[in-house]
Amino acid sequence: MKLLNYIQGKFEEPFSSEWMDNFSPSTGETIGSIPLSGHEDVSSAVAAAKSALPEWSSLEPSDRADWLDKIADCLEGKFEEIACLESLDTGKPISLARSVDAKRSVANFRFFSEMIRERQDEVFETDDSTNIVKLRAVGVGALITPWNLPLYLLSWKVAPAIGMGNTVVCKPSELTPLTADLLMRVIDEVGLPPGVVNLVHGNGYAGSSLTGNPDIDLVSFTGGTSTGAKVAQSASPQFKKLSLELGGKNASIVFSDCDLEETVKGVTRAAFLNQGQVCLCGSRILIESSIYDQFMEMFVESVESMSIGDPMDENTDLGALISKPHLNKVEGYVSLAIEEGGQIVTGGKPCLPKELEGGNWMSPTIVAGLDVDSRCSTEEVFGPFVTVHRFDSEEEAIEIANNTRYGLAGSIWTGDLERGRRVAERIHTGMIWVNTWLHRDLRVPFGGVKDSGVGREGGKWSLGFFSEPLNVCLKHD
Ligand code: NDP
Repeated sequence: MKLLNYIQGKFEEPFSSEWMDNFSPSTGETIGSIPLSGHEDVSSAVAAAKSALPEWSSLEPSDRADWLDKIADCLEGKFEEIACLESLDTGKPISLARSVDAKRSVANFRFFSEMIRERQDEVFETDDSTNIVKLRAVGVGALITPWNLPLYLLSWKVAPAIGMGNTVVCKPSELTPLTADLLMRVIDEVGLPPGVVNLVHGNGYAGSSLTGNPDIDLVSFTGGTSTGAKVAQSASPQFKKLSLELGGKNASIVFSDCDLEETVKGVTRAAFLNQGQVCLCGSRILIESSIYDQFMEMFVESVESMSIGDPMDENTDLGALISKPHLNKVEGYVSLAIEEGGQIVTGGKPCLPKELEGGNWMSPTIVAGLDVDSRCSTEEVFGPFVTVHRFDSEEEAIEIANNTRYGLAGSIWTGDLERGRRVAERIHTGMIWVNTWLHRDLRVPFGGVKDSGVGREGGKWSLGFFSEPLNVCLKHD
């Protein structure tokens, strides 16, 4: 599969004629190749977006919402293809690719279409004037998306961005280009005006060239914290509008009055969904001392019962990690955990059939006995690796939960909702769930504090980020 850039409504080879291989995480085999885009590819994609902007941004919002619906309809028709490509490209189980990636990608376009159709300008009256607040397009957007939820996160940005009248250049992760290409095929098929959505593939140059381009007006980036810092460095001096969704080191806090069975299920899912490669995953599990042993026995049993293997098997719970370097990084944290004095409660290499031996495999790993200040307990690992810690009071649980430079998400498990709320309000984070995890409502703000990022997307926050307000004040007679 040789993928191409999508610029001005055309699939294009890179100017350099340079390509890079794309590998299957589960077998290590080559799936295909993508263009290694350079300056000319990025510049022509940005120029295409810029030339499409005046006409696109002057359409009625309801007309743009119609386009989002057309894209959603076409994507829905390719539901199974999305799931298969996403599973192949990321190594995630097909059941997850269906229930999350394929389903939510369609849902994102539908959700933002409805919001944009229903949105009204705000009006403020005074004794002698009327203020009308209009939301206008910002301009040309750079949308940079990661490899863990490729189409889900791309659709989460493209839909509100073009819905609010911007035109965009997308840069998907070089590790997972397949469903971004599928979205371009959909956009081509429905006949979206050329230049409204463009895409450049690449590695090592395209992303930074895009964010540094003077004709880019806004940057929405989801990915690692250190890359986020570089994005901010190049975008901020040019005063580009910036949204950064970065890493997390989220706590799952288990109180002794929780429903143990439901909590074990929830904490297992929060820890290991998508092989722990979700920025919202609960990778530090804090357990009230009085139930520590009982919880651990049930938790270890639950984790060890997960089936790991062929992502295309309907019964698989855990697939492969995204790449060899990423597997090495996560395995490095296992070695570090031992150096830091931790005990590996469960983990290791899974036993797999011969055809999967070239893939990036690791069993879900639980580490106990680490200090709460240790590197393994405070740094983002982004894999099937969790640390467990005891606490004796609400105060101590809150202190441990806040003991990291990240502040993205978290979950609290308790039979006392009042306590759940009280504790939630003291965790320095952007999102927190009580007795559930990743229970998404697309209307709520998504994003983090501290090193987890800048700004919020989701619902009206996305519409706000992808627009500029204009206040028109009309003086009455
Ligand atoms: P990142 O996800 O951090 O970023 C890679 C992407 O950023 C590529 O598309 C790259 O394009 C682009 N990029 C790199 N430098 C710049 C720049 N200066 N300006 C603009 N774009 C740039 O990298 P990794 O895939 O290596 O992931 C690293 C870590 O990030 C993971 O180990 C994990 O901890 C975390 N992560 C977090 C995610 C989240 O959802 N918060 C998702 C995925 C990873 P190009 O090379 O062409 O410039």
